Amino acid sequence: MAGRNGKKSLFDEAMETFHRAADLIKMSPRVRLEIEEPDFEHIFYVTVDIRDRLVPLDEHERAAFRDLAPSDVKAGEALEPLANGWFILHRRALLEADLTLKKGVINIPKKGLFRIEKGGARKFKAYRIQHNQVRGPYKGGIRYHKDCSLDLFKTLAADMTWKTAIAEVPFGGAKGGIRIDPFNYSREEIEHLTLRYVYKAKNLMGPFLDIPAPDVGTNGEIMAFMMRQFTDGEREHHKLRGVVTGKDVRIGGSEGRVKATGQGVVYCIEEWAREKQFDIKGARVLVQGFGNVGSAAAEILAAQGAKLVAVNDADGTIVNEAGIDVAALVQHVHGNPANLRRTVAGFTGAKAISKDDFWAVDADILVPAALGEEITGTVAERLKVRLVAEGANGPTTQEGDRVLQARKIDVIPDIICNAGGVTVSYYEWLQNQRLEHWTEGEVNRRLEAAIKKNYALIRDIARNRAQRTPLYDSRPYCVGKEVDVRTAAMVLALKRIEAHYLLEGFSQ
Ligand code: NAD
Repeated sequence: MAGRNGKKSLFDEAMETFHRAADLIKMSPRVRLEIEEPDFEHIFYVTVDIRDRLVPLDEHERAAFRDLAPSDVKAGEALEPLANGWFILHRRALLEADLTLKKGVINIPKKGLFRIEKGGARKFKAYRIQHNQVRGPYKGGIRYHKDCSLDLFKTLAADMTWKTAIAEVPFGGAKGGIRIDPFNYSREEIEHLTLRYVYKAKNLMGPFLDIPAPDVGTNGEIMAFMMRQFTDGEREHHKLRGVVTGKDVRIGGSEGRVKATGQGVVYCIEEWAREKQFDIKGARVLVQGFGNVGSAAAEILAAQGAKLVAVNDADGTIVNEAGIDVAALVQHVHGNPANLRRTVAGFTGAKAISKDDFWAVDADILVPAALGEEITGTVAERLKVRLVAEGANGPTTQEGDRVLQARKIDVIPDIICNAGGVTVSYYEWLQNQRLEHWTEGEVNRRLEAAIKKNYALIRDIARNRAQRTPLYDSRPYCVGKEVDVRTAAMVLALKRIEAHYLLEGFSQ
């Protein structure tokens, strides 16, 4: 169906792979109708009281306040810097302060002249799309980002349904979040917003109903807030720990979860490299997005001797032909509280280039680990890599896909490549149900076996190589002809999902 301006929606475009695979497996029309739209689309609003802010004066406004006496406030402790250059004015800044205000403007030594902008109530749009639960409870990330929409969350929720089936974990698919730029809010405001989100969505969530996890703009800290809000005051609340995954290991999270998505990406790359007799040691790697997924994939690949040559993120792009020191870059991005946007920009061990030039850097492997729709047809024309390993969800457009195929650049599709996260989320959920704690070695051993087995099944479907090995049986999945790898992954997902409808039937 075409969108308002004649353009196809993201969801409709993404569902083309679904329909292609559904045709190939001759999916029953009723099953297709059951799966092709989400079960539930929840859109709601969350409100929160935000603090007063200090907004820097523009150049032309400053002249009128040149003589304003400096104010002595507890700036270090109580002025919280935001990524847009503003500060949150916590009330404790005023304790023992010596203040001079003129028309609401304050002069803070070493920081400058600021207008005090009054805080107050704000409203944000929130979503939880529950796509399908035939294989198990709804499961999927929570995204805090300024560009969110129903169309995007429907697409990502459906992706989770395919991914949980491919990873063979007993979950369905969901996705949700809040339309907000989290970097422009204080830690306390984000906490309050998260609590309010759970307050509103509480009747949708539960360890056997719908299980959120971190995604772009959220992390283990936010999962902890969610778990507390959901479980506090409940009888037998320890049984409810599995309501969210991606928690800190000290409060019921799993060893290996933080790195799991990046680790899964690397297990897929290892399988690709084994087949192509390609040596990861010395391989040149490009990474887009240096958050949870991108930084973990870069660290693990670097530990295997690969060379990270360039990184692009939302706020900068860097290159170093001799190889970027990954540990130093992780420290610069994630270990430095002054780096408010957690960006690679400003890293001294590499030089800055434009995003446009990033795509054309000569390398072997590209790991897109940022947002969707980045690898367009134009970008795909410029790439000088052999493999695109999709850490992000939906990073390649349809046109990008066609160009990659035509240029014989291999792709490991997102629904298997980044399935490591949800796989270890399942291990976390299992440990929560059993009140157990597994070692990182145990987690990675299971993850490696799961990813590599399902990767091999997809490869067999793509090549129409029906076979039974000691580890797996691809005979029930092959469709009698060769198909592209993205369609092959969808065939595997749909056959596993369809089995539930075919064997269980439909309640009326
Ligand atoms: P994150 O918030 O930790 O990091 C996101 C990164 O993307 C940041 O480095 C940011 O600067 C960069 N970015 C944002 N906008 C960009 C733009 N326009 N251009 C270039 N870079 C941009 O998020 P994450 O958890 O690492 O997720 C990254 C991707 O992986 C997303 O597509 C997410 O859906 C997917 N994913 C994440 C997980 C997980 O376990 N976290 C699991 C599966 C898939």
